[in-house]
Amino acid sequence: MGQDKPNNQTPDNEFAEKRQIMVASQIRRRGIKDERVLAALEKVPRHLFVPVRYQRQAYSDEPLPIGMNQTISQPYIVAYMVDQLQLNGSERVLEIGAGSGYQTAVLAELSRRVFTIEIIPQLARQAKKIIAQLGYKNVEFRTGDGYLGWPEAAPFDAIIVSAAPLAIPTLLIEQLAPGGRMIVPVGEDQQDLVFLLHTGERVEQFRKIPVRFVPMIRKKEAE
Ligand code: SAH
Repeated sequence: MGQDKPNNQTPDNEFAEKRQIMVASQIRRRGIKDERVLAALEKVPRHLFVPVRYQRQAYSDEPLPIGMNQTISQPYIVAYMVDQLQLNGSERVLEIGAGSGYQTAVLAELSRRVFTIEIIPQLARQAKKIIAQLGYKNVEFRTGDGYLGWPEAAPFDAIIVSAAPLAIPTLLIEQLAPGGRMIVPVGEDQQDLVFLLHTGERVEQFRKIPVRFVPMIRKKEAE
């Protein structure tokens, strides 16, 4: 992705129109109602987060390759997961698996501060670059194993995980603030999105929808 040149063939307003259609037909129609979430998806230029050869497909109803065997999530899945977090703009959010940085930008629109961890340095560099170019000042990047969370910055009001662990990482649950929400895909071949709510006394779990995410990568020393 890093070596790709920006594409000046398609005018910005054409992409803006594609975004509006994407939000209406893929997101709103499937039941996402939070106007802040819908506005964020209408605003963030998803085509800038995919390799140039995929730019014209950036707003279609599918995940796309971003290099290093990783993918940018389907727009609806980003909307669904972010919607589950019920953000109002005041939150500190932890994201595991920045990947392209697209969901990071959506979170930066919807919360006060985003802490994001990406394990593949090339992807982390590229995501950091585009997030800076777009002018977001409320995002902190870390390159490393998100399975461990970000204890120094904890607790978080919301945690969102974009790669699937085999079981919910206990260290992440421990970094959830009282009242906090977490959404995480769990499993190997069969995965489900699991929603967790820290009630103040205990952490409740709710199984949501079946999904297909790339597996969470573990660093050797952490296994
Ligand atoms: N939300 C991203 C999804 C990228 S795919 C997007 O829409 O672009 C999942 C990402 O999680 C990949 O970039 C992968 O490198 C990263 N990842 C996998 N295991 C990880 C781990 N243990 N810690 C941090 N990131 C991880």
